[in-house]
Amino acid sequence: MDFQLSEEQRLWRKTVHDFVKKEIKPLAQEINENEQIPPHLLKKMAPLGLLGMSVPETYSGAELDAISSAIAIEEIAWGDGGTALTIEAHNELGCAAVVYFGSEDQKKAYLPPAATGEGNLSSLALTEPQAGSDLRGIQTSAKKDGDDWVLQGSKAWITNAGAADFIVTLAKTDPDQGTRGMSMFIVPTDVKGLTIAPPEKKMGAGGTHSHEVRYENVRLPQESLLGKEGEGLQQTLHVLDGGRISVGALSVGIAQAALEEALAYAQERESFGKPLKDHQAIQWLVADAATEIHAARLMVYYAAWLKDQGKPFTKAGAAAKLYATEMAERAAYSAIQIHGSYGYSREYPVEAMYKAARLMTIGEGTSEIQRLVIARRVFEDGPLQIP
Ligand SMILES: Cc1cc2nc3c(=O)[nH]c(=O)nc-3n(C[C@H](O)[C@H](O)[C@H](O)COP(=O)(O)OP(=O)(O)OC[C@H]3O[C@@H](n4cnc5c(N)ncnc54)[C@H](O)[C@@H]3O)c2cc1C
Repeated sequence: MDFQLSEEQRLWRKTVHDFVKKEIKPLAQEINENEQIPPHLLKKMAPLGLLGMSVPETYSGAELDAISSAIAIEEIAWGDGGTALTIEAHNELGCAAVVYFGSEDQKKAYLPPAATGEGNLSSLALTEPQAGSDLRGIQTSAKKDGDDWVLQGSKAWITNAGAADFIVTLAKTDPDQGTRGMSMFIVPTDVKGLTIAPPEKKMGAGGTHSHEVRYENVRLPQESLLGKEGEGLQQTLHVLDGGRISVGALSVGIAQAALEEALAYAQERESFGKPLKDHQAIQWLVADAATEIHAARLMVYYAAWLKDQGKPFTKAGAAAKLYATEMAERAAYSAIQIHGSYGYSREYPVEAMYKAARLMTIGEGTSEIQRLVIARRVFEDGPLQIP
């Protein structure tokens, strides 16, 4: 058993860490206050490969392994959680769907601009106002009209939609076929009939925007179908499996940042004649956070490793997402506690970290849905094991 990152992965971690330390972390407070990532920041990420992590080199991407992608998302989240979600959704949702299921023509058309930053971001639209966890309940439909598809409906909470070139959209193509009656489409954002609402007013994670998207007689050519007709739900679940590793990684990054803030504060602040770090109650909070971050990181990297090995990783990915996201909220909670009143102040970064962490147990499958996925698999083929 080899408990080491490869030389390349370590170098990659350092490269991304140094970039984030210089370019993202100093802007985190501004990003959260203004609820906007400065556009130049996204452009700066492109040459590093951060906008096309899983995109093959043939289509101008970085073609990273899953562990390296997780490392990058973790590091960006260490700088700012909302910015990391923007990058995560672009890479692991919008682009990944095209990487996995796109035709040669679709890949050539959509991936290079997305990966190089010459184009804009990408999105994946699954959730609707009345259906999120249970995607069987979506109502957006795509009907054949001659050689075209015509889409009707609306989606909710679609990350990056307002800054995307394309939105991969799940729609019902044959309502009588249930889970086999859905398909994915690549919807360019400049198509007639598509309306993207202003960003939702969120609790935190100001560096990421999510929008309602409406499709009114959106007419698309046959070539817009992504993957196979009728397999949209299965394709979606495949994309989400990978996304869960990334949201786990993102959560580890937020937790790591929160712990570092707490460590620094506990050394400088004094009470009852000694630094906070010398109170055992504070030490226990720190010990629990450090232990849980390590456990979560191992789970995330393990799920990513399984993915890289071409082994099934649904159960491990869901477990990593469940544990890492709930852990991040605990770690950020403790970091606020250690800061006392200053932890509740927007002048200190732990407040924004807590609010970003809170989102992670909801997006890309709630904790309850992860438990459902894990339990189903555990009953089917037993608990998680190291192969
Ligand atoms: C900031 C943000 C960004 C997002 N980005 C995207 C995006 O880019 N694309 C996209 O498609 N969606 C996106 N979403 C939507 C997100 O994926 C959904 O919110 C999530 O899947 C949950 O769906 P829901 O909100 O409809 O909750 P519901 O499905 O209505 O669930 C409500 C509650 O009931 C629980 N629940 C539901 N069913 C069960 C069950 N069977 N057993 C136990 N508990 C259950 C849920 O866990 C939850 O606690 C985003 C959401 C947010 C907040």
